[in-house]
Amino acid sequence: MSVLLRARARPLPPALREVIPFFWKVKCFSSGKKSTENKTVTPMLRHLMYKIKATGPITVAEYMKEVLTNPAKGYYVHQDMIGERGDFITSPEISQIFGELLGIWYISEWIATGKSSSFQLVELGPGRGTLTGDILRVFSQLGSVLKNCDISVHLVEVSQKLSKIQAQTLTDETVALKYDAESPMYMKGISKSGIPISWYRNLQDVPQGYSFYLAHEFFDALPVHKFQKTLQGWREVFIDIDPQDSDKLRFVLAPSSTPAETFIQSKETRDHVEVCPDAGVIIQLLSERIEENGGAALIADYGHDGTKMDTFRGFCGHKLHDVLIAPGTADLTADVDFSYLRRMTRGRVASLGPIQQQHFLKNMGIDVRLKVLLDNSSDTATQQQLIHGYDMLMNPKKMGERFNFFALLPHQRFSSGNTNQSKSLPSPVAGFGELTWK
Ligand code: SAH
Repeated sequence: MSVLLRARARPLPPALREVIPFFWKVKCFSSGKKSTENKTVTPMLRHLMYKIKATGPITVAEYMKEVLTNPAKGYYVHQDMIGERGDFITSPEISQIFGELLGIWYISEWIATGKSSSFQLVELGPGRGTLTGDILRVFSQLGSVLKNCDISVHLVEVSQKLSKIQAQTLTDETVALKYDAESPMYMKGISKSGIPISWYRNLQDVPQGYSFYLAHEFFDALPVHKFQKTLQGWREVFIDIDPQDSDKLRFVLAPSSTPAETFIQSKETRDHVEVCPDAGVIIQLLSERIEENGGAALIADYGHDGTKMDTFRGFCGHKLHDVLIAPGTADLTADVDFSYLRRMTRGRVASLGPIQQQHFLKNMGIDVRLKVLLDNSSDTATQQQLIHGYDMLMNPKKMGERFNFFALLPHQRFSSGNTNQSKSLPSPVAGFGELTWK
């Protein structure tokens, strides 16, 4: 890689990140585990009980959606759950190098597709704003390359609490934020480097245009329907009140088939499946937009290629948490099915991946970047932290193998017209093949 990076070796400041003695979300699985210690009747549990009493058992997807994003009581809406004091840690919070390499990825795609005069950077689920912050710092550092390009940032975020933290991380505090709770664009500010930043609740509300999309640990938070194969055919898993204990919830199977069953493929061989129609809707929208306006999408998450069965789990305080206990106090998540995302592009765009994080970051030149930062740091604590962060991101036993990168690109991006990944030809797209600057 990185003629450009090495040539511009002025190091980005090694922003101190927490040293991480705790778990990330994919350590192990828990959906079947029973926890007995915590029977708290949370406001969310009370709300769900009323709902179930009024209209009957709810799907796992409805449960996840309510628990995570209910505007009044949802887990994501009113708290900061990321980091040491939260429930889980993510790659951008572990090392600045992660976001820097993603920044390079976008610039490399921008160059490869003809250096458009403007682009939008659109992040879905930006968490604490750290990833976009690291990307924007790379854009500033490579200002001479991007100097004639008009950049704007668009953040899709449902959480009031996290959107405030994102604004603190990203915007210039001397320029007042503009709020309009009634408008699809509910907040607007200016980044520290002078780039306009806008916030939305839905991707549909982000203006059309040449855009680079980013979704890191976003798709795993979207609601999944769960199904089990029975002698009578597929049956959806629902959540009901436990008749033995009226303060508890339990899983039940639907007595007959349900509409979401249409998402299961006829040739399906597993006997448990999870399907995420919301992910399908978002991928279709991204595909339409990239096909019509150009750009690319980079999706990074833990997941599988249509092979896993039961991945629905909860996290609280860096520990696995029974998904049905004390809802609203723990994160709920399910692995991303990349084979489903690929199908949902409906051939409108090309897809690359999933490729393991360790390979993607290696291809993007993480080793060179680490060396530059280490060479430029005289402080042992910072050096140890950089090495520790590298190990967390790259070690196959840590995040290196479980996290994957998946990209959507316009078909024109592949000059041969062949958009299938070939084992013999290196990918022309950085990360999926080695980064080269033209
Ligand atoms: N990308 C960040 C945060 C991951 S956590 C990181 O890697 O650190 C998931 C993020 O998605 C949070 O910001 C959460 O508030 C947001 N989110 C979850 N469901 C959402 C939805 N349906 N629409 C928009 N944002 C959502």
